[in-house]
Amino acid sequence: MDETVELLSRLVGLDSVNPALVRGGAGEGAIASFVADWAAGCGLAVTRLEAVAGRPSVVVRAPGSGGGRTLLLCGHLDTVGVGGMAGDPFAARVDGDRLHGRGAYDMKAGVAAALLACRAAAELQLRGDVLVACVADEEHASLGVQEVLAAGVRADGAIVTEPTGGEVIVAHKGFVWSKLTFRGRAAHGSRPDEGADAIVAAGPALVRLAELDAGLPSHALLGRASVHASLIRGGVELSSYPGECVLSIERRTLPGETVADVEAEVAALIGSADASARTLLAREPFAIDPSHEFVRRVRGAAGEAPVAGAAYWTDAAFIAAAGIPTVLYGPGGDGAHADVEWVSLSDTAAVTRTLVAVAQEFCA
Ligand SMILES: [Zn+2]
Repeated sequence: MDETVELLSRLVGLDSVNPALVRGGAGEGAIASFVADWAAGCGLAVTRLEAVAGRPSVVVRAPGSGGGRTLLLCGHLDTVGVGGMAGDPFAARVDGDRLHGRGAYDMKAGVAAALLACRAAAELQLRGDVLVACVADEEHASLGVQEVLAAGVRADGAIVTEPTGGEVIVAHKGFVWSKLTFRGRAAHGSRPDEGADAIVAAGPALVRLAELDAGLPSHALLGRASVHASLIRGGVELSSYPGECVLSIERRTLPGETVADVEAEVAALIGSADASARTLLAREPFAIDPSHEFVRRVRGAAGEAPVAGAAYWTDAAFIAAAGIPTVLYGPGGDGAHADVEWVSLSDTAAVTRTLVAVAQEFCA
């Protein structure tokens, strides 16, 4: 437990606010250097990846003797901004079982547990490798996990140690962002013969959007899919017909729903209106069969932990899409992206023990 507190306090103490979210944010440079030094000091192999300057990821490896399966543990090094947090957000503060600070819960505790488990695995003389991918930029564009996978990192099973409160997460939603541009004709407000109202042209699409949302399917672990209008912009002044109206929408998708499905929905929203649509960003949903051997193994090591789904999106989707059986499993706490953030220290130590137990069986 002392080691958990010490390592986690050091990680929280290194500002790693994502600079894509907060102008001037520190990024992952300092924390990546710390992790690399810590791991090298433990005799573990270290690879630093930094395709984008200032946004490094670190892959730590406990090499096996050969012939065994590889276990990948993954956590993100970046955090969101500090918002209105009281005191010094980067000064870890222990209060009973709780360790407070920005990133303690989301997700430096998971990173600490993975690193401590990797160090313990190195002592077990396993045949397979245990890797920890400490990745950049999960809170924005997932540069880190994409760089790690592009570098050829592969495994036979992966655990993303996001804070799941001890549940084994086997599914989460994806999302698709779309931008719809409705065209009218700008004109003086007194000239209906010349003007065409682009905002009114968007109206039927908004009505159909509500109907679409009400009819979307549900998933046993994730609840229903959804779509909502996020942004709308149109018009210049009261005395003119608006020549353009831009509507941006977000569709949260369930496993099995594709970007092509959503693009077809968007086309139906537009109908016969004079408009075009563009997909701005798409992130795949994630799902693994709850009866998969890897899921059963993680659950077993975690004391028959319950399986569940998560509403939020994570890097697990990229790892699973690379063909690696993946689950999310991590400690409890509260306050991801909030002004009061803490993680349970006893949970974090329990997660470490579970990860070691998984490695011991899976990589034997
Ligand atoms: Zn997170």
